[in-house]
Amino acid sequence: MSALFPTYARWDIKPTKGLGTKLIDENGKEYLDFIAGIAVCNLGHCHPKVIAAVQKQLEQLWHVSNLFQIEGQEKVAQLLVDHSVGDYVFFCNSGAEANEAAIKLARKATGKHHIVSMKNSFHGRTLGSMAATGQDKIHQGYGPLLTEFTYIDMNSEDALKQVVTSETAAIMVEVVQGEGGIKLMSEEFAKALTATCEEFGCLLIIDEVQTGIGRTGSAFAYEQFGLSPDIVTLAKGLGNGFPVGALIGKEALKDSFSPGSHGSTFGGNPLAMAAAEAVLTEVFSADLLKSVQVKGDWLKEELKKNVDSLSIVEEVRGKGLMVGIACEIEVAPIIEACREKGLLVLPAGPKVIRLLPPLLVSEQELKQAVQVITEVLTKLTQNLSVNQ
Ligand code: PLP
Repeated sequence: MSALFPTYARWDIKPTKGLGTKLIDENGKEYLDFIAGIAVCNLGHCHPKVIAAVQKQLEQLWHVSNLFQIEGQEKVAQLLVDHSVGDYVFFCNSGAEANEAAIKLARKATGKHHIVSMKNSFHGRTLGSMAATGQDKIHQGYGPLLTEFTYIDMNSEDALKQVVTSETAAIMVEVVQGEGGIKLMSEEFAKALTATCEEFGCLLIIDEVQTGIGRTGSAFAYEQFGLSPDIVTLAKGLGNGFPVGALIGKEALKDSFSPGSHGSTFGGNPLAMAAAEAVLTEVFSADLLKSVQVKGDWLKEELKKNVDSLSIVEEVRGKGLMVGIACEIEVAPIIEACREKGLLVLPAGPKVIRLLPPLLVSEQELKQAVQVITEVLTKLTQNLSVNQ
């Protein structure tokens, strides 16, 4: 009997140790981890530089209130600003909190309430971020929701034209939908977003909670789509497993988050900042970002070569090391079969296999993963055709 609320459908694995790309369970079984805490452990498990930074901070100062100057916040904020189009940073503790802050900031800065977000998006589980999430199943049982959200199909320029007005505060979007099935924004839609925001004076909020911190081969994924967001939200990879979230905003928004207008007890805690500084110093290196692009391209191409022709595979897609294999069938048994063969992958919606390896994954490990996935998908395709 567990004393936990059953909010998660958990797998029957109890990890007790993590090292780089490997996860080891209580029985000593080793897994190649292509989940990385769902795009969190971008530098792999127990990265020595992150451990050293947090350990040093642990012995100096764990926590002080935001009533005080916190040097780590200044350093991490500067790193984020130097590598983005934003000018100011607010720290919180999770992706949902970062999006909650974004919704509040957009309302306060514009004096408007209408926010347009995408169908199949995922922005979090708090009342505001849940309302921004364009999925009925996430809303079930929690109504009435925060009002004035409109959901449109990602990549539908027509829908964008129909719903955005001069009363719209913001458009909120992931450039690659993570939970929604590794769906990429089209170039045309990205251009339409910029034009629409300019025309109606609304803010562009890019949710980089899953795509940010090097995951797609650039510091932030929006760079690869030619976008210049007013607000960027972050969490997951920022602390490599230490809970931390952030919002980056442009200069014009500064005065809307004045003293007392928003805050968080733990946001920007010295321990979280030590982790984030170590992470960003590693991840925001040109060599590392380039290597993510090269490895991501290789992974996609190799998967295409091996599984694209199988009847159950619809498409291999993604950006950098955020890769999806869209299937014609539900992927739960595929994920389980990979797990039995020692490879951890996860679903993105019912029919997409999602691969999110640590960014430091080796060529050999990518080959190993492709081999396992190819074996599992080929066998399943054969079994299905025999039974037809
Ligand atoms: N936004 C995106 C794009 C996400 O993928 C997630 C989590 O999966 C969130 C927001 C919510 O983040 P958190 O679980 O840290 O609240």
